[in-house]
Amino acid sequence: MADTHYLDWPFLEPHHRELALGLERWAAANLDDAPHARGRATDDACRQLVSQLGAGHWLRYAVGGTAYGGSAETIDTRGLCLIRETLARHSGLADFAFAMQGLGSGAITLHGSAAQKDSYLKRVATGSAIAAFALSEPEAGSDVAAMQCAARQEGDSYVLNGEKTWISNGGIADFYVVFARTGEAPGARGITAFVVDADTPGLEVAERIEVIAPHPLARLRFANCRIPARQRVGEAGQGFKIAMRTLDIFRTSVAAAALGFARRALDEALRRATTRRMFNHTLADFQLTQARLADMAAAIDAAALLVYRAAWLRDQGRTVTKEAAMAKMVATESAQQVIDAAVQIFGALGVVSDAPVERLYRDIRALRIYEGATEVQKLIIARELLKDAATHSGTEKDIRRTN
Ligand SMILES: Cc1cc2nc3c(=O)[nH]c(=O)nc-3n(C[C@H](O)[C@H](O)[C@H](O)COP(=O)(O)OP(=O)(O)OC[C@H]3O[C@@H](n4cnc5c(N)ncnc54)[C@H](O)[C@@H]3O)c2cc1C
Repeated sequence: MADTHYLDWPFLEPHHRELALGLERWAAANLDDAPHARGRATDDACRQLVSQLGAGHWLRYAVGGTAYGGSAETIDTRGLCLIRETLARHSGLADFAFAMQGLGSGAITLHGSAAQKDSYLKRVATGSAIAAFALSEPEAGSDVAAMQCAARQEGDSYVLNGEKTWISNGGIADFYVVFARTGEAPGARGITAFVVDADTPGLEVAERIEVIAPHPLARLRFANCRIPARQRVGEAGQGFKIAMRTLDIFRTSVAAAALGFARRALDEALRRATTRRMFNHTLADFQLTQARLADMAAAIDAAALLVYRAAWLRDQGRTVTKEAAMAKMVATESAQQVIDAAVQIFGALGVVSDAPVERLYRDIRALRIYEGATEVQKLIIARELLKDAATHSGTEKDIRRTN
């Protein structure tokens, strides 16, 4: 069992500690430490994990609203982060399966109608429906507002045309929350969110995409895909805000997953360094190794403090745009370095296909890109800093004027 001293940090409450320890026991008993599945076997493994996580009642933490199967009225961000961190330490695919249930239904939790919540969240929380979040397009990744996929209103329906790509769970999802241009205003203000059932005529999985750490991923095509207006999530023209609010929650949880990968890498590195014999010593006897282990441990604690600060602030009802961006940037970038250090400690064994640290090396990579690449997080942090600075300089001028 990994070091759990951080569960005593003041950001967490007793029920969070119980949750983390309970999930740790469940994960040790139920999750295989197996090589990555590939191709269609990934789909099966993912479906299986969603139903296991549903049966274990862990998916209740991915949705908000107790009437709809959620663990609480709103998403408990610290609970979400502890679950992702713990699952990521055991299995990247289990973390993915859990996270997508939350990200794929997050817009419904935050802005869905009672009927949408009743129809979708309950099934997400039990693992009987698989969710997906469809925002990115071939020509609109970091620049979300450049999206071209369009929804035209025709009477009581919307007609969707266009493409979405890099859609996690694409091909196995039961429904997609899709963001499309509805044209109320230019750019980010003319986008609307919809829930689209996977079997809606006109929605097609155009391409399955294989990535470095396999999980279901696809490009979707919408061709005159007609959906009833009641499937719109929130107000027309509010889709960009809805997507950003959803990401404000889940960005912190991406950081938590990176933390889980990094913790696993440190555990593996400690085990190897203390048992590998060389030059009549163990590898851990050498100060160069000790320095490496120290850097890894300090990076992990720094990331954990940022993750649980952002999660705690959000659970206090605060806006966490800057703090979530800091947590994601630092936790994902430092996890990559921690994992690389673990590979180095393992030597040749570290690069053997599907060895635990080799898997981690691939598992971490995409986290520095999706839900906003590191460069985008930097821009968000700087924008918030400059906004604060402008507000403060205004306040100082006001104070000087009144004195
Ligand atoms: C494994 C995986 C799963 C994904 N799952 C989903 C999903 O479920 N749903 C979904 O909608 N999308 C998903 N995505 C898409 C993801 O959100 C996008 O890949 C991401 O937003 C980046 O967009 P892009 O790939 O088009 O890169 P681009 O926008 O082309 O950016 C390329 C690079 O440019 C750099 N960059 C970006 N902005 C700036 C800037 N202002 N200044 C300098 N450099 C900059 C960054 O390094 C970035 O990585 C997933 C991606 C991956 C890899």
